[in-house]
Amino acid sequence: MMQGEIAAPAPSRPNAKGNPNASPRSLKVNLVGMTRTELRRELTSRGTPEDKANMRVAQIWQWIYQKGVREFQAMTNLAKDYRKFLHEHFSIEAPSVSRRLVSSDGTRKYLLRIGSGHEIETVYIPDADRGTLCVSSQVGCTLNCSFCYTGTQPLVRNLTAAEIVGQILVARDDLDEWPKPGRHPKNETRLISNIVLMGMGEPLYNFENVRDAMKIAMDNEGISLSKRRITLSTSGVAPMLARTGDEIGCRLAISFHATTDEVRDRLVPINRKWNIKTLLDAIRNYPDLSNSDRVTFEYVMIKDVNDSLEDAYRLVNLIRGIPSKVNLIPFNEWPGAPYERSDPEQIRKFAHVVYKAGYASPVRTPRGEDIMAACGQLKSDTAKQRRSPLQFAESRKLAQAGHPKFSASNRSAAGKAASR
Ligand code: SAH
Ligand code: SF4
Repeated sequence: MMQGEIAAPAPSRPNAKGNPNASPRSLKVNLVGMTRTELRRELTSRGTPEDKANMRVAQIWQWIYQKGVREFQAMTNLAKDYRKFLHEHFSIEAPSVSRRLVSSDGTRKYLLRIGSGHEIETVYIPDADRGTLCVSSQVGCTLNCSFCYTGTQPLVRNLTAAEIVGQILVARDDLDEWPKPGRHPKNETRLISNIVLMGMGEPLYNFENVRDAMKIAMDNEGISLSKRRITLSTSGVAPMLARTGDEIGCRLAISFHATTDEVRDRLVPINRKWNIKTLLDAIRNYPDLSNSDRVTFEYVMIKDVNDSLEDAYRLVNLIRGIPSKVNLIPFNEWPGAPYERSDPEQIRKFAHVVYKAGYASPVRTPRGEDIMAACGQLKSDTAKQRRSPLQFAESRKLAQAGHPKFSASNRSAAGKAASR
């Protein structure tokens, strides 16, 4: 695909012809990711009596999402015969971890293997007062924002709801966050206290599966996180914002990144479809916006591209009246990236203008850079040989030292060239 071309969304349910939950490892139907209605239908169509079905759904959900059980045998409040029946027809499957990297700052990156041989990345970011799981919604991304590593990945497919919610299950396994006798963590003390849909992919190009997975994350018999602890980040699929508000109701983050259509067209090519004005109108109509439930405008700081003080003034004029905050993200490098990070002093001045205009303007600290886990650095490409984080760190050092192989003129050749 040419740089800047706007691709059509990947199919919403890639395997919609068959059962989207048909397990790749067996012919059994995977129960992970099913809505309550879907699970109920599966159970009753195989003989579970109607009057027991709701109770069975609740029990099974609790075992899967609150206790982390993967074997029906362990569901001890169900009769033995019923467990056997479940085992014969169904499975409980999450993606498998093919690689796990832990950063010096505690960030964990998981490379997960999913059906059809694809791989995706999920990142866990621990902080003093919270733990955030950054979840992917697609393998790769059909959009190709010129500053984003994920957009350079050629293979794209939508994740199923099972694969999206499965990322949470896998992370809870790794963090050993399933309940133990005498341990009842509250929301605030949970290791995974927040979920951000900021991993690989454009979540609003895979709306139904993202919605179903987040409904499980929010359900009190599911993962039971409040909708305020879930943030969906979109590059600006304006027509889908209304449904996001109505059907998910989570917090919204917008990858804004530019203050003129001319620059945004280059950085976030979806802007050619839905420009700044169309996007801002859709955001203004997002339900329940208030000072406590604000939109986050994400703004990646790229040297000499979008980081002038004129940009800062234009930004606050554009978003005036929208309950919001501005999250400034210093550009994260990746192999072949055609841009540079803004100078810290320029980021500070930009943040100050935004703050003075009445908007919180935190600068996002890059996390997990040594394992390529920071925003925009996620990419899994099993077809190409992977560069290890160490190799990347090495080439960055060489680039900083002015090595010709890694000089600016050479960088665009390796990745997707972007015109400045
Ligand atoms: N596709 C969605 C969500 C995933 S990207 C979206 O674009 O919103 C999550 C955030 O990381 C977005 O704000 C994205 O613009 C930002 N990002 C992408 N590449 C980056 C990079 N190289 N450095 C810093 N932030 C980046
Ligand atoms: Fe896709 Fe988001 Fe990356 Fe753009 S920034 S290419 S929408 S993942």
